[in-house]
Amino acid sequence: MNKVKCIGILTSGGDASGMNAAIRAVTRSAISNGFKVKAIYRGYEGLINNEIREFTTEDVSNIIQRGGTILKTARCEAFMTPEGRRKAYEVLKAQEIDALIVIGGDGSLTGARMFADEYNIVCIGLPGTIDNDLYGTDYTIGYDMALNTIVDCVDKIRDTASSHNRIFFVEVMGRDAGFLAQNSAIASGAEAAIIPEDKNNADQLDEFIKRGIRKTKSSSIVIVSESKKDGGAMYYADRVRREYPEYDVRVSILGHLQRGGSPSAADRILASRLGEASIQAILEDQRNVMVGIRNDEIVYVPFIKAIKEDKPIDKSLIRVLNSLSI
Ligand code: ADP
Repeated sequence: MNKVKCIGILTSGGDASGMNAAIRAVTRSAISNGFKVKAIYRGYEGLINNEIREFTTEDVSNIIQRGGTILKTARCEAFMTPEGRRKAYEVLKAQEIDALIVIGGDGSLTGARMFADEYNIVCIGLPGTIDNDLYGTDYTIGYDMALNTIVDCVDKIRDTASSHNRIFFVEVMGRDAGFLAQNSAIASGAEAAIIPEDKNNADQLDEFIKRGIRKTKSSSIVIVSESKKDGGAMYYADRVRREYPEYDVRVSILGHLQRGGSPSAADRILASRLGEASIQAILEDQRNVMVGIRNDEIVYVPFIKAIKEDKPIDKSLIRVLNSLSI
């Protein structure tokens, strides 16, 4: 017997293009199935502060094509503490919300998991992050759009690259996951990608230089995943200046523009399918799962797996890039 009557929805952590399409899908699908929907603004912060109002189908009109999130997003220190989560639970009870749909990345789903462990509340996660780093789903909402944006930028950078022996380091997001770097390198015809997954195996800069830059190439583009330390485009540019002074080095850090923009068709479709599936999950009495997609089919992934297990990058992608960039 399904006791859920009212569903709360929030977006949390880093924003990603396609979150609005997911909010629309959750809201409309919930209402179609007879649930009440309450929108929670500014992630867990807004939950704790009771920034909540009921949503109708009209509230999500004309948003499928918009980047960002109409619910706003936030990072919330208080939700990391037991007291903060207790406050959040009290707000949900007072609002008569009995299921929570969280759209966000690894951190947001970690929070949802802790919350669901402590309190009797149905929690469903949707993978919303440009990094594509959640285990158990082939794609996350926002990844395709970010990838396309990076490829667009690299195409433009290549247009300006004309002098011999110039190396451009282009830094992209993905601190712990190289999906954006590796696949944007393949898609833009870059010469190399430096990704966190390969960090301990080899000195990726040395490997790239050793492979040699064809003399007829007017420039080389290396896509680098951002990094907290000993990594990132600046780090590698400095190393080239010191260790290989024969090269002229340029750096371009793409930064926040990777998050924005009207979502791609692929992200809108993914967000719509996952959003609709999250309501099906509630109807099927699922709880504490992330709704994902694998081999083009909807799957339910227990939170613990989605957040604890590292999603491996297909190592054949490294071979593809290396073979094609000669
Ligand atoms: P993302 O979801 O994009 O990975 P963050 O890592 O910043 O973004 O996480 C978003 C929010 O999720 C945090 O501000 C916090 O409120 C919540 N969160 C993250 N990790 C935890 C945790 N270990 N326990 C409880 N809440 C967490």
